[in-house]
Amino acid sequence: MIDSARLGLPDFTPGTVWLVGAGPGDPGLLSALALHALGHADIVVYDALVDPRILALAPAGASLDHAGKRGGRPSPSQPDISARLIRLAREGRRVLRLKGGDPCVFGRGGEEALALAEAGIPFRIVPGITAGIGGLAYAGIPVTHRDINSAVTFVTGHSSGGAVPNGVDWEAIARGSPVIVLYMGLRHLGPIAARLIAAGRRPDEPLAIVSKATTAAQRVLVTSLAEAAAAAAAAGIEGPTIIAIGEVVRLHAALDWIGDLT
Ligand code: SAH
Repeated sequence: MIDSARLGLPDFTPGTVWLVGAGPGDPGLLSALALHALGHADIVVYDALVDPRILALAPAGASLDHAGKRGGRPSPSQPDISARLIRLAREGRRVLRLKGGDPCVFGRGGEEALALAEAGIPFRIVPGITAGIGGLAYAGIPVTHRDINSAVTFVTGHSSGGAVPNGVDWEAIARGSPVIVLYMGLRHLGPIAARLIAAGRRPDEPLAIVSKATTAAQRVLVTSLAEAAAAAAAAGIEGPTIIAIGEVVRLHAALDWIGDLT
């Protein structure tokens, strides 16, 4: 598939686990190392958000094992997934743990890596393009831009229990981060926006909701912090969505390159 030897890519040794980021959707955003891993895996343990065209890159004889976690649906527990990875590696397989975006950005890659380390299983982490950077780039929104922001915050809008995360200091983020990128933010967008406004952010600050970023079904809704929740509901926006808050959103009007391609 790719010239692994020429690129000097490492062998995918039997009995090891590779934690691989698949990127936000578009198969073109896979790394060379991810392609190499897909070409040599014995089993791919993947999450719900991974594009079927990416899974189709696995060898014909490889097993495909869905371990997706998706809000509301029954899914294997995290310890079950980690135990499965350990068992498969001990059986001497080349185990590819494939996750959407980057495995270590709100993806529990760190937890799985810790379980592997504790079990003495050799592993490798293959970074992927995270939705909060690549997804916004496909919407013509740079996460940093000179003269606009020297800092950006990636934050989850959803705790593991499903509520607005209390461990997040929304007031500090409102004060200190000119650009805020919200993962899993659609469900609680109203309360989150209200907290940011109460902490001093302007109600008319631009906000973009990018749905199904980098896929053929990508949609971009540009609205304001105060109106975002109502606008998303009125537009019937579906997940997954990545949400950008801040002045960089205004660049979408000039930089919407994908709108010109389709
Ligand atoms: N590890 C992933 C994030 C997993 S959390 C990453 O690095 O991108 C899942 C959340 O990621 C979704 O709720 C959504 O906020 C975001 N996300 C992932 N893929 C997306 C896509 N194609 N479009 C929009 N948001 C996406």
